[in-house]
Amino acid sequence: MTTPTLPNTRLWSDKAKSLSPYVPGEQPKHANLCKLNTNENPFAPSPKAIAAMRAVLDDEAVLRLYPEPESDALRQALADFHGLDIDEVFVGNGSDEVLALVFASFFLKPQPLLTPDIGYSFYPVYADTFGVELQKIPLNADFCIDINDYQAPCGGIIIANPNAPTGVLLSLADIETLARRHSDSVVVIDEAYIDYADDVAAASAVSLIRKYDNLVVTQTFSKSRALAGLRVGMAFANPSLIAALSAMKNSFNSYPLDRVAQAGAAASIADGEYFEQKRLEVIALRAALVNDLNELGFKVLPSSANFVFAAPNHHTLSAKDVFEKLREQGVIVRHWQKERISEYLRITVGTAEQNARLIQVLTQIL
Ligand SMILES: *Cc1c(COP(=O)(O)O)cnc(C)c1O
Repeated sequence: MTTPTLPNTRLWSDKAKSLSPYVPGEQPKHANLCKLNTNENPFAPSPKAIAAMRAVLDDEAVLRLYPEPESDALRQALADFHGLDIDEVFVGNGSDEVLALVFASFFLKPQPLLTPDIGYSFYPVYADTFGVELQKIPLNADFCIDINDYQAPCGGIIIANPNAPTGVLLSLADIETLARRHSDSVVVIDEAYIDYADDVAAASAVSLIRKYDNLVVTQTFSKSRALAGLRVGMAFANPSLIAALSAMKNSFNSYPLDRVAQAGAAASIADGEYFEQKRLEVIALRAALVNDLNELGFKVLPSSANFVFAAPNHHTLSAKDVFEKLREQGVIVRHWQKERISEYLRITVGTAEQNARLIQVLTQIL
């Protein structure tokens, strides 16, 4: 890795100088690496999504025109998929952008925003960007959320479910309790990985948005729909919250989703069969991976995501050592030198071949 040269900040605003941006997992340039570090889908997107995107490009005149600003066809497809109305659906340029608009629309409050101490590391960055005070609530010893720790008066709550980077799922009953107890603030459930829960219908809070007008559920096409490169994310909520997101979006960028993205995402939703097949394949690969890691002595947290959070538990090698040795052998996983989680590695579930290579290199290292 090269050391970045310090920029000249003479003309920067104080705000720009104060930023501490999110650092995504690396996207190495050379091929033949076993890339298990950013939770991308190991499989290709739906062939129907690819065909729909190609059709947009084949119409030579069409990219001359602006896209539909509210992505109506895509929102209708998402509404139909979840049994909702179009005015309960919002879409944006990746769920990261949707989350930014959520922060700007709902969390600029006098009281702090509550979030787990171990969670998606973009939340503290957005809190900084938008000047939102963040109060981190410790997960309990086995990395679970105890909702009774979330009783303080607050300006909002945001939780990834399944949590990142642990993969641990919070029950729908607990989410419902949180939404009920905090009816005067917005509760956001970031379901980037929810499709990898064994029973999605029983796990997803989308089913609760009509019951709780303060509940926002975000999801993404980046993981289970294998379209991280397309940048499409969505939120489901009461029409009044969706209207706020839409007003915020149109005060920033009226066309966050281009024509290719709108067509590809809608076609992916329409191809339910392919989606379900690949979703189940990843879940089966996860079970096999957990099994193999357990046999190597790893402690693996129960995962409802397309990654596992696993501690090598080795007598001489730390998680960081294992991370570095894997990297030397071309296997890239994620490690954070952070309190409480420094002895864990986050490993994306890959193809059977990728997982086998990981296990083979780990066997050699350990
Ligand atoms: C990947 C991820 C996102 C971001 O998804 P994009 O739609 O690619 O922006 C949001 N939240 C969590 C917890 C994630 O892991």
